[in-house]
Amino acid sequence: MRTKIVAGNWKMNKNFHEGLELTSEITGMVNDEINGNVEVVLIPTYIHLNAISQLTQGSNKISTGAQNCHIENSGAYTGEISAAMVAAAGCKYCLAGHSERRLFNNETNSVLAKKVDAILANNLSPIYCCGETLEERNAEKHFDIIGSQVKEGLFHLNNEQILKCVIAYEPVWAIGTGVTASTAQAQEVHAYIRTSLTEKYGIDIASQIRILYGGSVKPDNAKELFSQADIDGGLVGGAALQSRSFVDIVKGAV
Ligand code: PEP
Repeated sequence: MRTKIVAGNWKMNKNFHEGLELTSEITGMVNDEINGNVEVVLIPTYIHLNAISQLTQGSNKISTGAQNCHIENSGAYTGEISAAMVAAAGCKYCLAGHSERRLFNNETNSVLAKKVDAILANNLSPIYCCGETLEERNAEKHFDIIGSQVKEGLFHLNNEQILKCVIAYEPVWAIGTGVTASTAQAQEVHAYIRTSLTEKYGIDIASQIRILYGGSVKPDNAKELFSQADIDGGLVGGAALQSRSFVDIVKGAV
C-alpha cells in the first residue's frame, strides 16, 4: 500500500509573512481535520524553507521541499542553491524538472539526471516531474516524450535509489490553465510510467514508487483523480496558495 502524497508548489508566490501564515493555517487544519495516512509537502521559495520547516515540526504529516537545486554541493555558482543547503534547511523533498524550469531554464533530461543524483546524495527524495506539451499530445507523441523524460532522468539509478524517488506526471497543457486531464487520461499515463518502471526495476520495486498527478488539481476533482489505481496523490500549484482549498485537496487523498 503506497502512502499518498499531496505536495503544494508555491512557485514564486507569498512573501515571508504570508508564507508563515499559510503554513500555520495548513498545519492547524491538517492536525484537526486529516486522520488518514497521507504525506503533505509544502514547497515554498528557498528563502522561507528554514522557517517553514521549523513551523511544520508540530505535525508528523507535514514536511517541506525545495523547488529546485544545483547539481554541485558548493562552489562559485552565484545565485544558486545546493541540495546540501536544501537538506540543511530541514527539507525531505526537492523537485527536479518542473516544466517551468525545463522551459525557462533549459533544463534537459541529462542535467536533471545529475540533479537527481545531487538530491539523493544529500539524503533527500526527488520529486521528478515529467509531462508533454499540448502539441506533443495532439501529435500523439506523449508516451514517447514522457518515456524519454523518465528513462533519461531516472533509469541510471540503482534499486535502492529509485525507491527514494517520487515521480510527478504533469501535462504542461494542464498546468495553471484550469484544464485538468481527465481521470482516464491521467491514469493511462500513470500506468504507462509504472509499466516502464516494472520493465526496468521489476514489479516489487515499481509497485512501491509514488506517482503524483499535477495540473489544475482542485478540491472538486482531487478525490476522483487520487482514487485511480496508479495515481498516488498530487502536485498542486494554484490551489496550494490558499489553506482551505489545499487542505480540501489533501482530504481527497484519504
Ligand atoms: C504545478 O505547477 O506543478 C501545477 C500543477 O500547477 P497548477 O496546480 O496551478 O496547475
